[in-house]
Amino acid sequence: MLRKIVIAQFLFVLGLAWPEVRAWGPHPQITKAALEVLPHIEEVKAQLGEDNVMALTSYCWMPDMRGRDLGTFYADDYLLIRALPRHIGHTMPAVSAAFEPYFRRALQALRTESPANACRQLGTLVHFVEDVGAPPHAKENCPHHSELENWVDAQLITIQGYQPRLLGQSDEEALQGLQARIAELVAFSKERAERALPIVSSPNPDRSKVEEIILESAIESAKVTADLLFTMFTLGLRPNSGPGQSTLRGTITAPAAPGNDDQSPRVVLLNTDYSTLAEATSIGSSGGWQGKFVFRQLPAGKYQLFVYRIGAQPAILPVELRDGEVTHLTIELIPSDPQGNLVYNPDGKTRVLVPDLPDRWSMSTSEKAKSWSSTVVPLKAGEKYRCGAVIKAVGTKVSLQVSQGKGSQSRRLLIGQRASPEDESRYEIEFVAEPNDTTLSIQVETGGDLSEAIDKVWVVSTP
Ligand SMILES: [Zn+2]
Repeated sequence: MLRKIVIAQFLFVLGLAWPEVRAWGPHPQITKAALEVLPHIEEVKAQLGEDNVMALTSYCWMPDMRGRDLGTFYADDYLLIRALPRHIGHTMPAVSAAFEPYFRRALQALRTESPANACRQLGTLVHFVEDVGAPPHAKENCPHHSELENWVDAQLITIQGYQPRLLGQSDEEALQGLQARIAELVAFSKERAERALPIVSSPNPDRSKVEEIILESAIESAKVTADLLFTMFTLGLRPNSGPGQSTLRGTITAPAAPGNDDQSPRVVLLNTDYSTLAEATSIGSSGGWQGKFVFRQLPAGKYQLFVYRIGAQPAILPVELRDGEVTHLTIELIPSDPQGNLVYNPDGKTRVLVPDLPDRWSMSTSEKAKSWSSTVVPLKAGEKYRCGAVIKAVGTKVSLQVSQGKGSQSRRLLIGQRASPEDESRYEIEFVAEPNDTTLSIQVETGGDLSEAIDKVWVVSTP
């Protein structure tokens, strides 16, 4: 029952953001089938919490949610990591780049972060492993992509009686074991793609024949996922398997961010791979956000702790951790200027992943211009927003991209363009969300670096 509630809540949150058609249909059922055969699942649930473990059937969608706001967190909190700071493809051969970085990052999360963070991070790895079991992901440049990953009856996916394999006793051995297991899965599902293709491309394809073949791939994917989960839980939850013996705990208060007040602050130990999300203890009761974070089993040493949430200025503070000791911090974030700014990293200066890429901004280049896109801001119909920019570099144009409904429909609204040095630098428009508007993103067209083009941008919900 608990499981149903948790999954229902998560899917409700994802309601606006269901994956595109080009997605391996039965991810949740493959994960569920794998969880059902884990021999030590009760111990895992006792350690991580049943709701977190069962939410893996939703978290295994994470990479198909790239760029999206999923309620208390952004999918990119778990997709963009220092070893993979940009989004990658989900089909062979591009997807091969996912396995080692997400394998190491998920083990780190199981050892050093809270159960909720660990399961979300693990869900990301689970997705990519399951994906290569989809025939059109295993076979390169495969036609009929959508049919070959959706013509399957997900209710038939079960691997009762399968005994999961431990892919290695150490991290390195397990990584090699996983790579080998994935290579087998790719060969298995590529062969299924080649068998199904002549049927699906015939004038009147016999869907039931295709479904039989795709089911073989889904079942094999579930077996590999069971091996993966068994291995990750065995290695990741082994006592004292973390990189050190220090604990860092913190409480955070953050100013209100009306319009997206449930977002959790991000906590990063700068210039290391250690990062996590805080979790709320109370939202909005005192007109702000309150919560806590934890890092366990960290190596002792001196660190720079970075804390950031939308609507607040980033904070950096020094912290020294000692072996076997618990360090407590209390952090109070200062409001952004303007207050309640819903744009993530609004000046482009936060770069904890890689120096040349502002966190949570992505760049696209067309013949016309180089354009930076911010992370999306969720919209509420009828709500009024002040959207603005201070433009530094001449030639820079800043606009709003408003997305509507579930499809890819969107419209652009100009905030401002600075054509000559004499033009003013501050621009602001007022925008009221229409019933179908779901999210907006700020677009900055410039020839150069984002933080050289703008001083800052903002979106503020106004009463
Ligand atoms: Zn995918």
